[in-house]
Amino acid sequence: MIDPPIWALILHGGAKEIAPEQEEANRRGCLAALVAGQQILKAGGHALDAAEAVLRALENDPTFNAGFGSVPNADGQVEMDAALMDGKTLAVGAVAGIQGVRHPVSVARALLPEMPTLLIGAGARRFAEQSDSPLYGAELCDPAEMLSPQQAASEAAESAGHDTVGCVALDQYGDLVAGTSTGGLNGTLPGRVGDSPLPGCGFYADNTLGGVALSGHGEAISRLMLAGRIMHELERSDVQSAVSAALNHLNRLTDTDKTDAGAIAIDAGGNVGWDHRSPHFAVAYATSQHSPQVFLKR
Ligand code: ASP
Repeated sequence: MIDPPIWALILHGGAKEIAPEQEEANRRGCLAALVAGQQILKAGGHALDAAEAVLRALENDPTFNAGFGSVPNADGQVEMDAALMDGKTLAVGAVAGIQGVRHPVSVARALLPEMPTLLIGAGARRFAEQSDSPLYGAELCDPAEMLSPQQAASEAAESAGHDTVGCVALDQYGDLVAGTSTGGLNGTLPGRVGDSPLPGCGFYADNTLGGVALSGHGEAISRLMLAGRIMHELERSDVQSAVSAALNHLNRLTDTDKTDAGAIAIDAGGNVGWDHRSPHFAVAYATSQHSPQVFLKR
């Protein structure tokens, strides 16, 4: 008998504190995004299309700090980071500090086949203008449109905490893709870039091992190269142990109030793992063997 094709999809809506009145919106948003990607994988589609569809759905949902509804920096402006990595070719497409696009992840996708892997600020926006074809759909807009009404009211922004969205997808052809999208941390210095567009920090994908995506304090994640650590752990342990072992390195940092993080991962065999060092971590996954599940903490 021929084994059914294996696919797997995991996403997160951020390592953060989720107020009771926000729980339902987080569950609903994660599940809707999961369905968008799951449909593609189930129908024999590619991991890259599934990951982009998931991240675009999360970017559209103001519950999450990515795309529409991103948090403002200290100047009250939205600057967004996003990335996609293809585990087959090890190609990376990433943007940082981009303004005035509804879908930073689609700009990252348009960059995947290009020579530069990371474009920032005005250069990223200029690239988005050139590549805003219906195929990629960056959807140019006024930068001020990216603040949700709640975030435009600064009091709500203060309590919005932080979160990034992320996704890892494995398709039935064995291709793994990891992606991130974020508005960064609330009220940071203009021009600040966290882990989310940096391979080996906020994400990584390699078909021979697995794929990972992270959320949390970008400075802590970058200083510890957490995505890279998870990949190295995957060489010798199962995916769940790999994620948890890497996150334990957060204990080495002394600034304990700024070391929240969460990670999702899929190994090359389609097994999923996730863990967090934060009050909550909105996660949803489905595989060819498991029906959709959503969690707000472990
Ligand atoms: N990691 C993101 C950053 O530091 C923010 C987050 O995940 O909440 O920019």
